[in-house]
Amino acid sequence: MSDCLFCSIAAGDIEADVVYEDDKVIGFRDINPQAPVHILVIPRQHLASLNELESAADDLPASLFTAVPEIAREAGVVENGYRVVVNNGDDAGQEVEHLHVHILAGRGMGWPPG
Ligand code: AMP
Ligand code: ZN
Repeated sequence: MSDCLFCSIAAGDIEADVVYEDDKVIGFRDINPQAPVHILVIPRQHLASLNELESAADDLPASLFTAVPEIAREAGVVENGYRVVVNNGDDAGQEVEHLHVHILAGRGMGWPPG
């Protein structure tokens, strides 16, 4: 999608602080971090949200979610813990309509989330 911000980041047309890349998935630091470590993990393929994940190739869910602990390990947050969030739709506060997994870490977090 040409007018999608995260597609543009995946294509390298918009700069981002990329921390992980493979052929299906890319991870980069959130521009407005909500924790000392705040990384977004996205599929290169444009999917608006988790609701479209079933239309992707069978191995995409595994590629996306196995990248998460790998990135967390690389960021040095596995031992203390990290939170994984996927906002889907308006009530959840999704702002960018390209599926992205938030990895948040580096501070204690409350539950339930706001
Ligand atoms: P969400 O509310 O789940 O859609 O989250 C969108 C996230 O994208 C927010 O945490 C934003 O700070 C982040 N974001 C927006 N633009 C950029 C960008 N150019 N580079 C990195 N992160 C971004
Ligand atoms: Zn996109």
